[in-house]
Amino acid sequence: MLAAVLHAPHDVRIEDRPEPGRLSPGFVRVAVRAVGICGSDVHYYEQGRIGDFVLREPMVLGHEAAGVVEEAPTDSALQVGQVVALEPGIPCGRCVYCRTGHYNLCPTVQFLATPPVDGAMQEVVTHPVDFVYAAGELTPDEASLAEPLSVGIYAVRRCGVQLGERVAVIGAGPIGVLAALAAEGQGASVGIVDIDESRRRAAQDTGLRAAELGSMEGEAYAVVLECTGTKAGI
Ligand SMILES: [Zn+2]
Ligand SMILES: [Zn+2]
Repeated sequence: MLAAVLHAPHDVRIEDRPEPGRLSPGFVRVAVRAVGICGSDVHYYEQGRIGDFVLREPMVLGHEAAGVVEEAPTDSALQVGQVVALEPGIPCGRCVYCRTGHYNLCPTVQFLATPPVDGAMQEVVTHPVDFVYAAGELTPDEASLAEPLSVGIYAVRRCGVQLGERVAVIGAGPIGVLAALAAEGQGASVGIVDIDESRRRAAQDTGLRAAELGSMEGEAYAVVLECTGTKAGI
């Protein structure tokens, strides 16, 4: 099977790798159909590292993945041929964070495409059944947005965005757009700004009200979501 393997900054190779062998108990074999490119993938591609996570050996990129079930445990509800989204972090299940329901904080989480764990840009992956989600009628392209959308949903919940509140989103990249859509889903009145015209247009294509930077100055917002990750954005 083919895989997109990052060897060093600016050095991605499409390589033939052996398919995963016999399925371990509790795992699902998924034919990968769509993988989003996250900012973290771009960091590894550009710099070969994110902080303490350093690329030391070749690694498959991609963690925003969706695909089609090829084989699932007989006692799971998943069906062969079903579209699924993968949750990319596999926690230990035993530490204090995992045991108190905060498994996203597990210090030994195995996160796809975080060195040295291979990511999902390969034709087939095996993944623990508890972290494989049936995607209903969604296409794999749509289902691959589940992970970045979850960022927006979490942000909106954490801010307690309420029906009718005014929310400003700074930055109309994928995370900004998905956070804005999550806020709209909560019934907020959302405006999103970006300096880049193509990003504003992409936001408008989803039905959002997108504007140039500065056009929202002087207006009052109950919540501001900073989604550029830059000093200037803040
Ligand atoms: Zn991501
Ligand atoms: Zn843990």
